[in-house]
Amino acid sequence: MSLLKHTSEDKALSKILKGQDPDRKTQVGWSSALEEKNVEQNTEEKERKERIAKILQGARMPLWCPACEHPMKHRLDRKFWTLHQKCFDCVIKEQTKMRAEGTWDAYEQQRLNANRLHYLMDLEQFLVEAWTSIKNPEFATEVGTIERWGGLDIAVVKEDIHKELEEVRKILREIQDGTANTDSQG
Ligand SMILES: [Zn+2]
Repeated sequence: MSLLKHTSEDKALSKILKGQDPDRKTQVGWSSALEEKNVEQNTEEKERKERIAKILQGARMPLWCPACEHPMKHRLDRKFWTLHQKCFDCVIKEQTKMRAEGTWDAYEQQRLNANRLHYLMDLEQFLVEAWTSIKNPEFATEVGTIERWGGLDIAVVKEDIHKELEEVRKILREIQDGTANTDSQG
């Protein structure tokens, strides 16, 4: 609720306490505050769905690297996409450049790796959440209309989540085992 509404409620309260009628404008404010609550709930649900749709778009590796526009066909591109949203070549070039410029040090590397680990753990949790929410591809809304998951093909969506989860868990396992070279190998 906005500060403005608190203020109008406070004003109304002080008027009531003084034995005056709260003005019309304030009453409108109250009823719209109730409406706002419903809108907030709908917005939350909408935002949740949009968040899932967005991450699924991000999870699906494009055919071309968005940074260099080359086809994503290196065997490590999938892994590098998950970690960096770029192709293998782009990440290697970036890191080589950083080393040449002396901007790549152990601290930076450690920080980046810690960020990636957090990102992957968040992503894993999110994908599990998405998988759970997506069990019913169609659901009736309060007003009785049937909604689909933003028009996405549910089978493709589920496959994407599954692939992405497998990839994320594989990378997480590698990091935990210390077998992942998260510097040059992702
Ligand atoms: Zn690239």
